Amino acid sequence: MTEYTAPLGDMNFVINELAGLPELSKLPGFEHATDDLLEPILEEASRFASEVLGPTNVIGDQQGCSVTDGVVKVPSEFSDAYQLFVESGWQGLDCPQDYDGMGLPALIGSATFEMWQAANLALSLCPMLNSGAIDTIELHATDELKQVYLPKLVSGEWTGTMDLTEPQAGSDLAKVRVQAVPDGDHYRISGTKIFITWGDHEMTENVVHLVLARLPDAPEGVRGISLFLVPKFLVNDDGSLGDRNDVYVTSVEHKLGIHASPTCVLNFGDKGGAIGYLVGKENRGLACMFTMMNLARLQVGIQGLAVSERAYQAARDFAKERVQGQVPGSHESARIIQHADVRRMLMTMKSLIEAMRATAYITAAALDVAHQTEDADDRAAALERSALLTPVVKGWMTEVALELTSIGVQVHGGTGYIEETGVAQYLRDAKILTIYEGTTGIQANDLVGRKVLADSGKGMQRLLQEMADFDASLASCGPEFDSIRNAVATGHKRLEDATNWLLGKAQEEPAVVNLAAFDYLMLAGTAIGGWQMARAAEVAHRKLATSEGNADFYKAKIITARFYAEEVLPRSAGHVEAITSDGNSAMALPEDQF
Ligand SMILES: Cc1cc2nc3c(=O)[nH]c(=O)nc-3n(C[C@H](O)[C@H](O)[C@H](O)COP(=O)(O)OP(=O)(O)OC[C@H]3O[C@@H](n4cnc5c(N)ncnc54)[C@H](O)[C@@H]3O)c2cc1C
Repeated sequence: MTEYTAPLGDMNFVINELAGLPELSKLPGFEHATDDLLEPILEEASRFASEVLGPTNVIGDQQGCSVTDGVVKVPSEFSDAYQLFVESGWQGLDCPQDYDGMGLPALIGSATFEMWQAANLALSLCPMLNSGAIDTIELHATDELKQVYLPKLVSGEWTGTMDLTEPQAGSDLAKVRVQAVPDGDHYRISGTKIFITWGDHEMTENVVHLVLARLPDAPEGVRGISLFLVPKFLVNDDGSLGDRNDVYVTSVEHKLGIHASPTCVLNFGDKGGAIGYLVGKENRGLACMFTMMNLARLQVGIQGLAVSERAYQAARDFAKERVQGQVPGSHESARIIQHADVRRMLMTMKSLIEAMRATAYITAAALDVAHQTEDADDRAAALERSALLTPVVKGWMTEVALELTSIGVQVHGGTGYIEETGVAQYLRDAKILTIYEGTTGIQANDLVGRKVLADSGKGMQRLLQEMADFDASLASCGPEFDSIRNAVATGHKRLEDATNWLLGKAQEEPAVVNLAAFDYLMLAGTAIGGWQMARAAEVAHRKLATSEGNADFYKAKIITARFYAEEVLPRSAGHVEAITSDGNSAMALPEDQF
């Protein structure tokens, strides 16, 4: 079974050349985020991912987790690895320095995050949810709550959870029913939450829940939802742990993948009401929770990238060893990497992974600019860009992850379908990524409704303009770049046509627009990914021209970008045709004919 090795060369390249770390490190507060610091951090993170987290991945898949007498049990190897994670200070890498974090950009955090997720997705979900809780508390909680909870969450000594889902409230959070009743300086929370990731465990002394609930007199719908911080153990004035709060796990789910990530049913208030503290304002909880959900959506997209990378490494290594058949014109036995169709599969994986990495990291960098810049126009532009790209990263990248982890099995032939090889786990683990943090359908609706139509397409037009402006740089690379240049221009045109079509149809035929949303999401991902691949190829061209760096790496960049242009970007044709077909057949079929 292949060990995970972090793709440090590509990570460094994307961080510096495409996502612009040198520019980020000019922003106030990021002066220390330089290349000198980046390299040792990535190298140490890579070692940690390969040597500490990676070896626990299969153990978690095989042992899973369980609840006995109200206590969640995960493999002891998980607890040991998590303790080392805390001792190494990884949780605080991109957390505020005011709470003992390192204050590094989310861009660098995205690379280490990718490594954790590639090494062990089930375990690394725990710090992932924690980082969302940290951000939400930092932005929306009172100073008092921040002082008590943030240092312990930033160090990883306690972990945070996100508690939205209830049996009747999944995609539709307007249906949340968990109750919060005012009681002095706090609230009493009661009701049931389901599917809460790492909702309880014994890896840390305390677990801090961020819970959506409704006040007794709250208005119906999303305008009546408030956010509460509910610790498993209450915290005394001196910071020590006090009484057990009234929140208990009753069961964990048995799942297709991520077996050792406890997906918990949590009961609040069976013994009189769990004590909870308001975060943000009453009835404004969903807006606060969006801080957590937006970060989590970017992170889940990166989980898709990470598990795809892991599947790719296994497929590549297998293909270099497995001997089967002969290549045309030869009587020698061939290793399967010599067969054209296996090349097609590996290049599909490699090129989409590189496109995803670039798309995710530029989104993280936009978040960093939004957070750190003192220029109001730059902040507005960065916020617009990160908001536009977030559903693309989450929706497109997780759908692609399913495709790529499936190809990973295919490269292995029958061996891939057998659990011992380990690659079936990546496919099983990847399936959840298109579901949690908002399904692909919800991401598509978000992209079309809130990110494109809500601002009359202005944010998307600005992105399209940037893509168009880049054509001059590609033209300067000469005829060798024609196939890349033409394919990117065609992808751009299709995205532009589809955007104009949506804007035209929005008022008169909203159902047709909803039907087009999925294809629009996939078109956007495919075209934006192509733009990023072309940017990478253009940088590589310049480096080769000046004999800078590793020539083989840069030549591979150009070949991979050309493959994406020739074999992946044409997918945009199918998407734009489906979008603009004006058909409504999915809605036309009577329900009794399904
Ligand atoms: C392993 C796991 C871990 C999870 N972790 C957490 C967690 O930590 N915290 C938490 O709060 N929740 C968590 N969840 C819940 C998860 O976020 C929800 O399952 C998800 O949001 C979908 O909700 P649902 O399951 O109710 O599906 P539904 O909302 O019932 O959706 C079913 C189908 O209908 C589609 N659909 C629904 N509404 C629309 C619409 N308006 N337009 C178009 N299509 C629509 C969906 O796309 C989907 O295909 C977890 C779930 C799982 C399985």
